[in-house]
Amino acid sequence: MSKINHIKHRRALDLVKPYIPGKTLWEVQKELRLDRVIKLASNENPIGPSTNALEVISNSLSTLNRYPDAHSVELKAAIASSLSLSTKQLIITNGADELITLISETYLEAEDEIIVPSPSFSEYDFGAHLMGAKVVPVPLDNHYQFNIDLIVSVVTDRTKLVYICSPNNPTGTYLPKSKLEELLQSLPDHILVVFDSAYSHFATNEDYTNGLEYVRAGFPIIVLQTFSKIYGLAGLRIGFGAAPRNIIQSILHVKEPFNVNNLAQAAAASAITDEEHIEKSKQVNTAGRDQLNKAFQELGLHYTESMSNFILVKFGPVAKEIYMQLLMKGIIVRYGNTWGMPEHIRISIGTPEENNILIEAISSILLTIQLKGETK
Ligand SMILES: *Cc1c(COP(=O)(O)O)cnc(C)c1O
Repeated sequence: MSKINHIKHRRALDLVKPYIPGKTLWEVQKELRLDRVIKLASNENPIGPSTNALEVISNSLSTLNRYPDAHSVELKAAIASSLSLSTKQLIITNGADELITLISETYLEAEDEIIVPSPSFSEYDFGAHLMGAKVVPVPLDNHYQFNIDLIVSVVTDRTKLVYICSPNNPTGTYLPKSKLEELLQSLPDHILVVFDSAYSHFATNEDYTNGLEYVRAGFPIIVLQTFSKIYGLAGLRIGFGAAPRNIIQSILHVKEPFNVNNLAQAAAASAITDEEHIEKSKQVNTAGRDQLNKAFQELGLHYTESMSNFILVKFGPVAKEIYMQLLMKGIIVRYGNTWGMPEHIRISIGTPEENNILIEAISSILLTIQLKGETK
């Protein structure tokens, strides 16, 4: 038996593009029947999660018959004490992704505008489109730096949110502290700055800020952080926002009570105090970044100086071929097409061994492409 239907979704959803994630390890392994697959596509922590967090997870398994703490009291206390914030300045969410949706639901009426320096993380556009709001993209400059004057110049009465991703995904560039201050001073007071510092721990330059000092000082800013990157808990789905109290209070109106599961809450509280794991992860990343930068230089490739755990590399017209050939060799990276950058590939920094395998593979692919070109 069957029956046709004419059930239509909201018009706003026509504009919502589904998120296209990097290929998963097992997909590639199965498709290509490879023994070894290396994933350098989603900016995950290559050394794995904090072992302290893993221990807490196994000890928490017996609580799974209970609903999680809707207010994440223990985790908030751990974050507040580690970041010198009040627990009232925090909201815990199912990944920072969920927080972007919640912020959109809280502040955006249909026809409102958000400003997004571009290229950047696609979830910002998703949140706006979901609410029928408009995305006003502002290009980064030639060196992928933020142009504050340009951002301020496109502000209108309908502008509700200005997104700043720093370090920015996919470019790895960042907004220096003095520029953030300039932005905060220049914007009219009806605008909330959404400062996504998901990759803050990897930034090593002196003039970098993760934005939290401006939350402490009471500016209209919400800082997004995640446990998916340096803490190595991407699979658990947990992140948080830090903002002045009134902003947190507003966003709490749209939060589902049990959005963050027991295991994620417990693991995150442990991971944020695991200094050893954090330090080790930073070191592996900084060393890997140097290793890859040097190799790209030697190969004569153009890349963007990154303050993050990935590097945007320009391969030119052969970028897609290189992406495909890396895939055939069991190395998953992110092709730039997603950001309208068909000549670029974004490569996450791996362990020293993974980086070596990647460098070898790129060298040999470049060589065969070169040879093919010469015999044509
Ligand atoms: C990975 C990432 C996040 C965090 O996402 P989760 O939902 O917490 O896994 C947020 N912003 C950017 C720019 C990211 O790349």
